[in-house]
Amino acid sequence: MKRPKSRKFNLRKRHSEVEEIELLESWIASGKPDAGSNPLSLPPPPKNSRIGKLSDGSFSPYSSAVKFIQLPLSKKTKDGLAAAGYSKMTDIQRASLPHSLCGRDILGAAKTGSGKTLAFIVPVLEKLFRARWGSEDGVGCIIISPTRELGGQLFDVLKSVGRYHGFSAGLLIGGRKDVDTEKERVNNLNILVCTPGRLLHHMDETPNFDCPQLQVLVLDEADRILDEGFKKQVNAIISQLPKYRQTFLFSATQTKSVQDLARLSLKDPEYISVDEESETATPSRLKQTAIVVPLDQKLDMLWSFIKTHLKSRILVFLSSCKQVKFVFEAFKKLRPGIPLKCLHGRMKQDKRTGIYSQFCEQHSVLFCTDVAARGLDFNQAVDWVVQADCPDDVASYIHRVGRTARYCSGGNSVLFVTPSETKMIDKLKEKKIPIECVKVKAKLLQPVSGLMAALLAKYPNLQQLAQRAFITYLRSVHKQRDKEVFDVSQLPIDEYSASLGLPMTPKVRFLKQKTKDKKVSEQMVIVPISAVESPSNPQQGSMVPGSSKEDDSKLEEGFLAEREPLLVGEENVTNTKDSMPVTRVLKKKKLKINVHRPVGTRVVFDEEGNTLPPLAKLADTKMDADSVKLDKDKVSQRYAELREAMKVADKEDKALAKERLKEKRRKEKMKRKRSRDEDKEESGLSEEDQSDMDNEANTGNSNKKQKVYFDSDNEDDGRDKIKMKDKITLREQEELALKLLSSMHS
Ligand code: ADP
Ligand code: MG
Repeated sequence: MKRPKSRKFNLRKRHSEVEEIELLESWIASGKPDAGSNPLSLPPPPKNSRIGKLSDGSFSPYSSAVKFIQLPLSKKTKDGLAAAGYSKMTDIQRASLPHSLCGRDILGAAKTGSGKTLAFIVPVLEKLFRARWGSEDGVGCIIISPTRELGGQLFDVLKSVGRYHGFSAGLLIGGRKDVDTEKERVNNLNILVCTPGRLLHHMDETPNFDCPQLQVLVLDEADRILDEGFKKQVNAIISQLPKYRQTFLFSATQTKSVQDLARLSLKDPEYISVDEESETATPSRLKQTAIVVPLDQKLDMLWSFIKTHLKSRILVFLSSCKQVKFVFEAFKKLRPGIPLKCLHGRMKQDKRTGIYSQFCEQHSVLFCTDVAARGLDFNQAVDWVVQADCPDDVASYIHRVGRTARYCSGGNSVLFVTPSETKMIDKLKEKKIPIECVKVKAKLLQPVSGLMAALLAKYPNLQQLAQRAFITYLRSVHKQRDKEVFDVSQLPIDEYSASLGLPMTPKVRFLKQKTKDKKVSEQMVIVPISAVESPSNPQQGSMVPGSSKEDDSKLEEGFLAEREPLLVGEENVTNTKDSMPVTRVLKKKKLKINVHRPVGTRVVFDEEGNTLPPLAKLADTKMDADSVKLDKDKVSQRYAELREAMKVADKEDKALAKERLKEKRRKEKMKRKRSRDEDKEESGLSEEDQSDMDNEANTGNSNKKQKVYFDSDNEDDGRDKIKMKDKITLREQEELALKLLSSMHS
């Protein structure tokens, strides 16, 4: 009874779904916003106006919708949104959803925490719903996130809002061990949320994995995904995706690079930037300050900050994993009175997963690298974002501070800059970031440097961490691209080392190299163009002190970009003619293969180890050495002698071989005779046959045919004679005859 009922029910459901889709499509088509228009500029619909199909058969306008329910969305999505607590749309959602729902590509830019996630999750669900996507249709949507944590978070939002849809979704991120299980299932998933590396891994290694039907591609934090770090992976991914699809790119710092857009083959994308008119590039609820801190006081400042904000959730950004490890371990030992946590890329994924939710649960400090800078939503729980190390650039700053003051909540941020990095503050102000510089009273600082030295003495591991942190910090400053802000030579290195508690300043190879490089450049610098360019002067390189191969290789190691300006005073000119004009620097010599060089002569060693040309002994020594000619008669005579000698040797070898063969046969015969005497068996069997016989005897088969061996021998006279190998004695012949007779009788 149940079955027909449920079939009927399913049929009805399918019918209603088809009807719903038709209705939605008519609604979407009826009120499409003009391409390039900004829905935010339209007046909102009147309150309590009817939604959807109206009595006259027309549809309510949705371009100016303020609430999700005013949009042409499926019931399942609307219910999911309501269940997750979303009703009113944020600006980026209002501005982008009317465009994305009618199938347009979107380039969305909006401040951090402004709700970009729903701006792409909702149209993804709708697109697949209206396409009646099912499990057998395979991958319909790929959402790419730059970090694993953000991937996890997007997946959670997808699950929450899409709870009433029947799509299957999977989270594919690195660091998870269950790749094989993933491989089995990935072909049946409809929506993939993934990091670029893991997606490519599946594209390369999972059998039958491809997405020929892909409907939507989403890049969250698009500018990050499209930057150099992911370039190769993303290009490889895109090359495997169908071009006919809808594409959404979202970020707070959106890419406008034509090249990037061309890579993604966007079709007339809608560029939606809700904050272009805004006075600030960061949320207005965010209070931002900057403090100029000498590098050697940074730890004191950070410690003091934490000690004075024990009832907060503080996110501390540092420049490298090693910095994070050291500061976390050291502060943990100093017990500040607030739980400390850390998050960086070198941690195992099990540990990484869930750190951010733990962080949200209680007042604590989370030390992290930029792995936590993008997209993460700490449930509006972060009170303070402290950038203890200066960010790489303005975009990085915006994303870091964006971890606080999300959605409608407020937040605070503080940026530490060393005196040589103050240019960063100007750059931030130029990009519409309202940041206020504050001074800290030195007497309020709680110095920890003295304590650090004691800690390091007590814990050797911590000392190692401190050393590594010291070196990686300097390296990270040295590697920074923005040389206007970052200058490693301006840093008080010894003082910084002491502030970490290190007893001695560790040697920093690249810094030493820099000074060495300076010296080298001072010595080498000026060489006249004519001297450098003259091909007739191959020794030119050695004229310049310090231009040896070794120095070159060191220079290459990392500081080439950092070389000091190379022009120096004329007193440093070496080996140049006074009259020569001051010109340019020697470039690194290129190794060239000269194809016209003379071909080398072959050296042959004779038996005594003398180097003589072949047959030189036979050369006519009277002739001059250059034109060594061979006496033909002597050569042929020599060959005749050699042939004779070889013939003699050959005869001797054959005689010897014959002798050996005879001896072998004699031994075999003796052996056979012995065994015949023992077993009273027939004669003429080799050892192998004997063993075969033994085997057969064991199996009870002794009725064996006699084998007769022939041998080709005695080739000396050129004719092969065939002869009986073994002469049969008279007695043996009699025995044989008797046997034959008896077998005939029986
Ligand atoms: P972004 O990606 O722009 O940084 P998110 O999508 O992570 O921002 O959203 C930030 C916060 O705002 C999240 O906690 C999210 O739940 C909340 N949020 C987003 N849209 C809405 C909405 N329409 N109504 C209420 N809260 C929202
Ligand atoms: Mg986001």
